[in-house]
Amino acid sequence: MVSKQTQEKYAELALRTGVNLQKNQALMINAPIEGADFTRIVARKAYELGAKNVHINWVDDELTLLKYENAPDEVIANVPDWKVQMQESFAKDGAAVLNIRATNPDLLKDISPERVAKANKAAAEAMKGFRKYTMNDIIAWSIISIPTGDWAQKIFPDKSREDAVESLWNAIVKIVRVDQDDPIAAWEAHNQTLITAREVLNKKKYKKLVFKAPGTELDMELPEGHIWKGGSAQTEDGTTFNPNMPTEEVFSLPYKYGVNGTVASTKPLNYGGSLIDNFSLTFKDGKVVDFKAEQGEDVLKHLLDSDEGARRLGEVALVPDESPVSQSGLIFYNTLFDENASCHIALGKAYPTNLEGGAQMDEEELDKHGVNDSLSHVDFMIGSENLDIDGVKEDDTTEAVFRSGTWALDVK
Ligand code: ZN
Ligand code: ZN
Repeated sequence: MVSKQTQEKYAELALRTGVNLQKNQALMINAPIEGADFTRIVARKAYELGAKNVHINWVDDELTLLKYENAPDEVIANVPDWKVQMQESFAKDGAAVLNIRATNPDLLKDISPERVAKANKAAAEAMKGFRKYTMNDIIAWSIISIPTGDWAQKIFPDKSREDAVESLWNAIVKIVRVDQDDPIAAWEAHNQTLITAREVLNKKKYKKLVFKAPGTELDMELPEGHIWKGGSAQTEDGTTFNPNMPTEEVFSLPYKYGVNGTVASTKPLNYGGSLIDNFSLTFKDGKVVDFKAEQGEDVLKHLLDSDEGARRLGEVALVPDESPVSQSGLIFYNTLFDENASCHIALGKAYPTNLEGGAQMDEEELDKHGVNDSLSHVDFMIGSENLDIDGVKEDDTTEAVFRSGTWALDVK
């Protein structure tokens, strides 16, 4: 275990830099029950910082699995109203939301993909209203992780449970800069680096990005008025927060009708407790028209068929290979980490805030601008030291954006 002092530093970073908790604000935390000790540290700190209420929703992998194994379909595919109302009531009150994410990547490997797809779809539909608060940055929210035994042993299969948890703690602490003397100052400097990179890209106004790597030849148009974001975000009332810790990406949105070619994954994707690995997708006019996967092809098929927008892209993110997550050399089987080791794209819903005026547009208007909509938003990794990206400017000149997995543009 890392020391209590380190955990306290991490808790404080999550509250101040992550959700930027304000006095008299409520805090809703989703946390793994195995992480109760750490979660209590977070709760205590939150009250010290002036929270008016700290509410925890415990996530228990073992009970989740028991439900999948035993409950009838109508229970699996139904999210009770009170659950939705509970989440929405906190959002309406302007609460901050902290997600501590740490599921076992193999939790649902023996459950039929149909059942998992049904549950995922039901949850996504039920949480549509709540998700608007986070995806449009109406409230401050953040996702962090702490180790749990099953997850740690997936990453370090040759270690004992205890040693695996210890190793994962050490990796996380380093990646989120909690090993530094002043993690909050370290994050301010890091956010500034990301702001500089996104400003460079925003000035370029590329109309197209071209991705080339083994198995990948992809042309991706970007909509007019697209905005590159990254690092910290702002709520409507001006509170700065960090939606993901770690975060190493600058990201924008593809034109939903303008993606053509094939893209190959470079890391396994943990999708709701099932792994999809070594897969590729072929796009025509923005839509996936062909796909294959060495592992989890069934799960991928269900994801793609979940709704109309699940076959189109909602995000493109650039992450250089120097990222501390990439430098750790680990595969985390957890998107929060793996997406920050590698350039990635997402199937499904785009962030409306990635388009000028997008947060104020209705669904029809967003569609007209090529902003994708879906119940899902699933990031997957396409970056490696073999990835080259070109940017095509409005005057049709082309320049190198990424070479061999890292910035070719001067973003400093
Ligand atoms: Zn991303
Ligand atoms: Zn994403």
